[in-house]
Parts: sequence; C-alpha cells; structure tokens
Amino acid sequence: MPIDATLPYDPANIFARLLRGEIPSTRVHEDEWAVAFHDIAPVAPTHVLVIPRGPYVSWDDFSDHGSDAEIVGFVRAVGTVARTLGLVEPGYRLLANTGPHGGQEVPHLHVHLFGGTPLGLMLAR
Ligand code: AMP
Repeated sequence: MPIDATLPYDPANIFARLLRGEIPSTRVHEDEWAVAFHDIAPVAPTHVLVIPRGPYVSWDDFSDHGSDAEIVGFVRAVGTVARTLGLVEPGYRLLANTGPHGGQEVPHLHVHLFGGTPLGLMLAR
C-alpha cells in the first residue's frame, strides 16, 4: 500500500528496524552514511536498495532536510555500490519511489538500484 510521504518519520518502519539490526538483511555495503542490501523481492538480476542512516521518509524529505554531508555521503554510497557490483560498464538504473503516485511503500528513503540485464523501457506505455 503506497504511503503518504508527507507524514512524520516512523521509527518503527521496516527499514529503520533493519538499520538497527532488528530484522535480517543481506548487506552489500555499509558506511557512515548509508546501508545497501538486496531487495527481498528482486525484479532484476541485481536489485539492491540503498538507504541513508538518517531518519528521512522520502527523497523529498531528504533533499529538503538532509545535511550537505548526509546528501554527499549518500550519493557517493549509491555510486560506490554500483561500482562495487560491477554495474557501471553494462549500465544500471536508479529509482526512488516517492509518495502515493510514486508507489512508495516503505516510509524510509530508499533508492532502488537495478542491473544485470537490459532493463527496457523506463515505464510501460
Ligand atoms: P517501494 O515500493 O519503493 O517503497 O519499495 C519497497 C521495496 O522494499 C520493495 O521492492 C520490497 O520488496 C522491499 N522490501 C520490503 N521489505 C524488505 C526487507 N525486509 N528486506 C529487503 N527488501 C525489502
């Protein structure tokens, strides 16, 4: 069910719990600013989620309220994950669903990183 991305941050959301180690994840990267792990229901051969450590509901919240250091650290982490997974030369796709029209379901900012196959059209026509 898509969420209302304007709601206050819910520290009980599933990715907050995952960050605290309360639920398991298959992490592929972690640093001061971000954690990356395999999506539990992948839709591409590589489907990784990258999340900031800070409590941000959405891309909108993060881009408005994140500190410069958090934003730089997060963007660099996304690039590091793509390079580490060998996705740069064949190419990859990033996606940040935001709010109801974006289809966002988990109220902690996450960037989907897809790769490992030609990904086709961005959206179905
Ligand atoms: P979105 O629709 O952009 O909010 O995407 C949420 C994503 O989180 C979906 O692709 C889910 O498969 C994924 N997801 C939900 N719970 C977990 C979990 N515990 N570990 C890894 N991925 C998850």
